[in-house]
Order: sequence, then structure tokens, then C-alpha cells
Amino acid sequence: DVKLKGRNSYQFFNKEMQKNAERTAYLQMELNKALNEEAFELYFQPIVSAKTSKIEKAEILLRWQLNGEFISPEEFIPIAEQSGLIVPIGKWVRQQALMIIAECWRQGEPIALSVNVSTCEFLTDDLQKQFLQCFEEFMDQQTESDFPLSLLTLEITESLMMDQHQNIESLLNQLRSCGIKISVDDFGTGYSSLSYLANFPVDQIKIDKAFIQKIEQGPRHRALVEAIASMSNALELAVTAEGVETQAQLDFVKNNKVDAIQGYFFYKPMPQQAFFDLISQNNL
Ligand code: C2E
Ligand code: MG
Ligand code: MG
Ligand code: MG
Repeated sequence: DVKLKGRNSYQFFNKEMQKNAERTAYLQMELNKALNEEAFELYFQPIVSAKTSKIEKAEILLRWQLNGEFISPEEFIPIAEQSGLIVPIGKWVRQQALMIIAECWRQGEPIALSVNVSTCEFLTDDLQKQFLQCFEEFMDQQTESDFPLSLLTLEITESLMMDQHQNIESLLNQLRSCGIKISVDDFGTGYSSLSYLANFPVDQIKIDKAFIQKIEQGPRHRALVEAIASMSNALELAVTAEGVETQAQLDFVKNNKVDAIQGYFFYKPMPQQAFFDLISQNNL
């Protein structure tokens, strides 16, 4: 009896695994097509000042529709990372962001944008060189030498600063010397080491929404958010609270000297046109 049950669950597990592998292979193929056809869409989620609730910038979040259905980035980004497709995808997202920043800036309405960068985009010396080259090429194409790259934030994750990433410190320094801002996304989720914060050149951290969403669940959860915020303040890092959905969460993070808020309480991610309509209304 036990044996039979064991064998059945083994077969079930095998089928599950096969189904997952097939889905991954299918999505990988479709991702490739989507890249060639520029079938991705950029969504924009406003980030507001904690003090004024005014929109300060927006995070660009990639969206992909396949046969009329949105595939979550939580599903397709890991597949893009495994297959290396994240490199051209990431490059495309950054180019789009820079083009938008340039256009708005020339129209006298500068907008700050942040984009997500995968650790997989820095895996080799060559990739790191290419990464920097893109910004150099972009700057060469601009007629104004004072183009403000400071309007761009790169959201990296803790994993980039772990492992034996010897060159990462100098890479981040080079990016920052062009004015680009560096933010540590999903702070507190990946690794338990904090030492990198003392050594690595970063500008801000984003407290992961997993922490924010537990604020109402008890004092121990609140203590974590408090500790992250006060440590960041001590290190003179700006802090964004991500995933703020309720008034209570908002009040708590405001009381803890968080600088900026991103979350459904204010805005959900939205298509480009909706975002530009929103900020042009706000500027009136
Ligand atoms: P992330 O960079 O941490 O982005 C924040 C995620 O939290 C977004 O999910 C956003 O929609 C969601 N979010 C923001 N506020 C709230 C809230 O109040 N409540 C809830 N429940 N969720 C909120 P999304 O758009 O599904 O993206 C998921 C992840 O996919 C991103 O997490 C990021 O790691 C990755 N991603 C998205 N676009 C890109 C990209 O262009 N490149 C790379 N490498 N990764 C990307
Ligand atoms: Mg992010
Ligand atoms: Mg995040
Ligand atoms: Mg996240």
C-alpha cells in the first residue's frame, strides 16, 4: 500500500516536473520572439515623497502579454535570466527609459525613472563592459553634454554585492560618477549579510514589500521595518517603502523617516500613456 502510494506520488511529481519544463521551454521560445518583435510593454508605478505625497519618480516594470494574457514578471524574468535573454531585454528597458528621460527633459518637464537590473546582467567582465558602454554610447548621441543621467536609478539586488563580485564596486562607482543613482531593491530578503552596505557605493534602499505588508501583524514585524529604516538613516541612505497598501502602513513608515513611498495605496503600475496623463494633470 505504502509502496504504491509512493510510486504514484513519484509519477505525479515527475509529470509535474515535465509540465514545468515544457512551460519553461515554451515561454523561453516566446520570450525570444517577443524580444525581436518588441512585444514588451513598459508599465510605470509612481513613487511619491513621504512628506508631500507628490510624485517624485516612477519605477518601470516590464509587462508581457502572450495570446492576450499577461504573464507575470515573477514567472518570465527568471526564465529570461536562465536563458541569458535578460541581457538584451534589460538593455532594451534601459534604452527606453533613457529615451523617455531625454524627451521629457528636453520638453522642460524632467522625470526621474528607475529600472530593474538583474544580477545576471553582470556575470562576466564582458557583460559589465557592455553595460557601461551603453551609457557611454547614449551620452555620445546627446548633443547636450549636461544631460542629467541623475534622472536614472538602477535597482540592483543584494545578490550582486555578495559572491565574489570583485569588480562590482568599481562598476557601481563608474555608474555613480556619471550621475546614475543606485538603489538596493528587495532589501532584506535575499541575504543576511549587512557588511556590503558599509562598503558598496549605493544611494538608497527599497524595503521589500514583504516587510511592509506585515506591519499590522505585530510588534516584531514593525520592529524590523523600524530597524531597517533607522540603519539606513544612520548610513545616510535614502529609503523607499515598497508595497504600501493601507493607511496604517503609510502612517507607520512615515513615522519611521522613510523618504519615499511606492504602493497600491497611492498608485498601481500603469501603462505609459496613463502615467503621462497623470503627471501632466499633477503639474497643472
Ligand atoms: P520589484 O522590482 O521589487 O517591483 C515591485 C513589485 O511590487 C512590482 O511587481 C509591483 O507591481 C509590486 N507592487 C508595488 N506596490 C505594490 C503593492 O502595494 N502591493 C502589491 N501586492 N504589490 C505591489 P511586478 O510588476 O509584478 O514585478 C515583479 C518583479 O519582476 C519586480 O519586483 C522585479 O524584480 C521584476 N521585474 C519587473 N520588470 C523588470 C525588468 O525590466 N527587469 C528585471 N530584471 N526585472 C524586472
Ligand atoms: Mg524594483
Ligand atoms: Mg522591490
Ligand atoms: Mg520585489
